Amino acid sequence: MKNLLPQGVALQGERGIAFVIAGPSGVGKSSVISALLSRDPKLTFSVSATTRPRRPEEVHGRDYYFVSEAEFDRLIAEGALLEWTVYQGHRYGTPKSEVIDRLKRGLDVVLNVEVRGAKAIRTANLGFPVVLIFLVPPSWEELVRRVRRRGTESEEALAERLRIAREELQHIPEFDYLVVNDDLEEAVARVEAIIRAERMRIVQCA
Ligand code: 5GP
Repeated sequence: MKNLLPQGVALQGERGIAFVIAGPSGVGKSSVISALLSRDPKLTFSVSATTRPRRPEEVHGRDYYFVSEAEFDRLIAEGALLEWTVYQGHRYGTPKSEVIDRLKRGLDVVLNVEVRGAKAIRTANLGFPVVLIFLVPPSWEELVRRVRRRGTESEEALAERLRIAREELQHIPEFDYLVVNDDLEEAVARVEAIIRAERMRIVQCA
């Protein structure tokens, strides 16, 4: 296919792409991402660092790097984070080492971040394409149900997650794509369609 293209033109998928998946807590970002990763060997997951305590089902190094406050301070001081934020009293950050080398090697990177983090990744000028995908539940009532079902937190923490979710929805216009997660399989297929299309995008190259 390569010798068909005019000089200075390439397909975006020949290089690495960062696919950032944001959206309110409880919408199912992690489930959608696990399904995507299991089906597409070119996709790799950016494991974030966090000071939040590990939930029973979570694995260090797979879901997050669970670090102490002091370790997180050190990551910031060393400039090791692409972006970081405070969410419900805990810090979360994207290690540069999870993203940049892989993009350089031509792999795609999937990130699970909250909305401010998504925007920060876009403005970080990685030198690679960044695609911002906003995942929403089919309705506000469904979001409340899903956040409650998780059931790992106090009423106060749940109310805070819902308040943050309301605020996050205001940022939809700054994203490239909106995906409704009504049915997991359908939502995964929608995100896969975005990934395929972005890889086929025609771009100018040097
Ligand atoms: P949870 O505690 O439910 O795993 O995550 C809370 C929120 O933090 C989610 O919206 C998740 O997407 C976000 N998050 C996870 N890692 C990062 C990160 O590295 N940076 C930012 N900005 N947000 C993150």
